[in-house]
Amino acid sequence: MPADGLAGARDRGRPLGPGRASRNGETVTPEDEGFLRRAIELAARSRASGDAPYGSLLVGPDGEVLAEDHNTVTSDRDISAHPELKLARWAARELDPATVAATTMYTSCQPCTMCYGAIQRSGLGRVVFALATDQLNGLKPGGDWPQVPQEGPALYDEARVPVEGFYH
Ligand SMILES: [Zn+2]
Repeated sequence: MPADGLAGARDRGRPLGPGRASRNGETVTPEDEGFLRRAIELAARSRASGDAPYGSLLVGPDGEVLAEDHNTVTSDRDISAHPELKLARWAARELDPATVAATTMYTSCQPCTMCYGAIQRSGLGRVVFALATDQLNGLKPGGDWPQVPQEGPALYDEARVPVEGFYH
């Protein structure tokens, strides 16, 4: 997963990093920074309320804030309760596809691999983040999550039966 491609998610396949040119040839704009500051404020509030320090929001096509959330892993006892994942699910459920595609996620930290997968499936058009993953890991003892071994493939002739013909 090209983590540094998030800032210009509409430019599929073109790796972009923070501060580098986005699809319109622009960098992170002053307007973007305003929304990022709101995400950082949500992160601080999350920490103050006893959860991990991460916050995110969705800004629609007309520049309006559609939804905000923060990390609730601790309070919900839910390892998946990252704000980016919750907002990606919300967008795919509550918005029409054209609106989702024209919506930007602003987030206090670069989405993790779990959240990025959900963002891809949601159809969101763009993500703008403050702290990059490497910058976060520099602030976080232990760094990234451990690798988990995956074994397979196996039983192809049996496993393909429920899948074949499902997709056209
Ligand atoms: Zn995440």
